[in-house]
Amino acid sequence: MNLKSTSCIGFALSFGMLSCSVGQKKEAPGNEARRWAIALHGGAGTLLRSQMTPSRDSAYRASLDLALKTGEAILSRGGSALDAVEQTIAILEDNPLFNAGRGAVFNQNGKVQLDAAIMEGEKRMAGAVAAVEGIRNPIRLARIVMERSPHVFLCGAGAREFGIEQGLDTASADWFFTRERWEQLQRQRAKGKSGAIENAAHPNDGSFGTVGCVALDQQGLLAAGTSTGGMTNKREGRIGDSPVVGAGTWADNRTCAVSCTGHGEYFIRLALAHELHCRMLHGRKGLEKASGELILQDLSKAGAQGGLIAVDGKGRIAMPFNSEGMFRASSNGRSRKIAIYRE
Ligand code: ASP
Repeated sequence: MNLKSTSCIGFALSFGMLSCSVGQKKEAPGNEARRWAIALHGGAGTLLRSQMTPSRDSAYRASLDLALKTGEAILSRGGSALDAVEQTIAILEDNPLFNAGRGAVFNQNGKVQLDAAIMEGEKRMAGAVAAVEGIRNPIRLARIVMERSPHVFLCGAGAREFGIEQGLDTASADWFFTRERWEQLQRQRAKGKSGAIENAAHPNDGSFGTVGCVALDQQGLLAAGTSTGGMTNKREGRIGDSPVVGAGTWADNRTCAVSCTGHGEYFIRLALAHELHCRMLHGRKGLEKASGELILQDLSKAGAQGGLIAVDGKGRIAMPFNSEGMFRASSNGRSRKIAIYRE
């Protein structure tokens, strides 16, 4: 992927300090229907700030900017939240810097097995795939499962077969291979770690990560999607929270659209994405408060690290995390944010 350049980076940095509370300006009467908002993440498995070089930092910010622009372009011209989520995530999946699609981590057998989910908030239609191999953009496969099959969740060879049948792009092992991820696997193997258990204690070694996107479109519809390679050295067949509807991904027009990142087993046990919806719907809490409590209190208390991005029906965005950083970006057309650490 061409991580273009200084102009992108300058653009990203110049907006870097803007507030993440987008969408809170008062709208003129009649303008409400034209509001839109988007947020994306590239995972909470960021490198420690002390290990991040300036050139890597710039490359990440330029990549986040490029993905954000993709979603912004769709939403600003009246496109659907689902399209914005799918296309934005596909860009991040094709980028070897992030742990999803190309650039995904390797499991204990040296294979890339991918998880993804997408959901829309009107009818709560959802599609998900897990442990799928050789499909270039798992997020597109998840959408096809939602729209062209009677099912919600397909896994493994069956999911792949369905994608091929439906004409999705496949990709060879070479496409998915990145030296850095391979070396990460070797380091984990040498330490005798099983990714799913040990990484909770060492979340900032870059050995996990995920990408996700949430959006509100001009029709007032919400959508969410998440895509990941999971955790380095994970057991064959291990499925994280990302494709589990209600754990790592959720959308409901009455409350919010949310995509999570972090140590998946904990997000599944907390049903974290759905829990956010419940606290808003039944607990009458606002997006920022409910999501902050979940990540900064509940997830922390459980002993895990991670974060989420979420947008509500008014275009308010929350992006809490309890890890050292979380690659993230947001926009509502009037204000923009691109950030990695607490900045
Ligand atoms: N949640 C993902 C998983 O456990 C990993 C991540 O977000 O970093 O598979």
